[in-house]
Amino acid sequence: MASRVLLVIDLLNDFMDPRGSLYCGDETRRIIPQIRLLIDEFTASGDHVIYLRDAHATNDKEFELFPPHAVKGSWGSEIIPELAPFDQHLVVDKTRFSGFFGNNLADLLRDFSPREVWVTGVLTSICVMDTTGDLRNRDYSVVIAVDAVADMDPAAHRFALDRMKKVYGAKLVKARPESELTSEHGEFTKGRGNEAMGEIHS
Ligand SMILES: [Zn+2]
Repeated sequence: MASRVLLVIDLLNDFMDPRGSLYCGDETRRIIPQIRLLIDEFTASGDHVIYLRDAHATNDKEFELFPPHAVKGSWGSEIIPELAPFDQHLVVDKTRFSGFFGNNLADLLRDFSPREVWVTGVLTSICVMDTTGDLRNRDYSVVIAVDAVADMDPAAHRFALDRMKKVYGAKLVKARPESELTSEHGEFTKGRGNEAMGEIHS
């Protein structure tokens, strides 16, 4: 039985490629190496990696709120090549902000019964936070890798991290050891060792 699950949310061409229809900006691309690191680590340790992928119908109601994006089967709905899944990884389509809507994610997690679910991806204040809330509602322990989530709006990013920590009890950690982080992450006080991630005290 796997002890951990890694969720990789919406690392799709339409969000992460400058040619994408809802490009989130160059800043958000900075999380890609950290997510790569986590995917490789979880894969090596035999833990599960689940990609959540926006996959909309062409007339999806969400397009009343946002410009059309990630239409199912299109280039925009494909996972970016830097993070292309391996054969043993799972890809779960979603059509709403929460990763649990209209798919079998709940069943997969019930089968895996992980002691922790790690959450990475975009955007911190939308799909990451809504998915984390639904994980909490199902009593999973959630870990947010703060250098592996991103948002277009820095204030929304900070608010979402704070809310996920205080309201959902999420543990905030870093995907990269302290020595590899730039000074802007200095507000976080601990890196991680080989076995366990340092908890972040913000
Ligand atoms: Zn969408």
